[in-house]
Formats: sequence, structure tokens, C-alpha cells
Amino acid sequence: MDNKKRQTLRTVILKRLSDVSRRAGLVPEETDMETRLPDPVDQATKESERDLSRLLRVRENVEIQKLALALDRMEQGSYGICLGCDGEISVKRLRAEPTALLCVECQQKRERNRVAPGNGMDFIGSSR
Ligand SMILES: [Zn+2]
Repeated sequence: MDNKKRQTLRTVILKRLSDVSRRAGLVPEETDMETRLPDPVDQATKESERDLSRLLRVRENVEIQKLALALDRMEQGSYGICLGCDGEISVKRLRAEPTALLCVECQQKRERNRVAPGNGMDFIGSSR
């Protein structure tokens, strides 16, 4: 992958990271949920929204870790290299999924074999 493409993808990752961080509440926003819903009638709705946002937070944490890992791999120069076959992950795939750790073929193989029924996070930790 050439430098220009890597820079582009880096920008994509950084933007996603800041979006997700803001959504996860890691970066304080000017208007938060509490001030946006001042009506006490909305209290019940607010509660269930809080549950939902907790769920979202977990999912966003995973996303943040994936994005951080991608940036880490970029620093180390291993970004875009498939962890399954050491081949290059296509830029097209990375553009769509900048946190991809596997090339399309390895991804499909894994999905078929159901080796990783989760989100692929099992690579984190084992890759170091
Ligand atoms: Zn592969």
C-alpha cells in the first residue's frame, strides 16, 4: 500500500474514532441527554434510553478498540496485512471496513468455519 492510500485510510480511521468516541460519551458534547429532555414525562423514556445507550457504549468500546488497533498497526507498518494469510488486504475492502484484519478470502473462510463467531476481537492480544 502506498503512503497516500495509507494517509487516506488513516484519516478515515481518525474520523471514525472521533465520531465513535463522541457517541460513546468519551468526548463531552455541548448538549447532553439530560438537558435535551427536561420534561419529567419523558423520565421513563429516558430510563430506557439510558439502557440502550449503555448497550451502545459496549458496542462502541469494541469499535474504539478496533480503530485503535488499526492505528497501532499503521504505526508498526503492519496495517493492511491479513492476519490469516499475510497477504495484502485490498484497499477497496479497507475503505469500506478500515478496521478489517483479514482479507476477504480469510474472512469468508472464518465465517464458513465459524472459527470466530464473534466480532473478530480474538485477534487482539494474540497478535502481539
Ligand atoms: Zn488472508
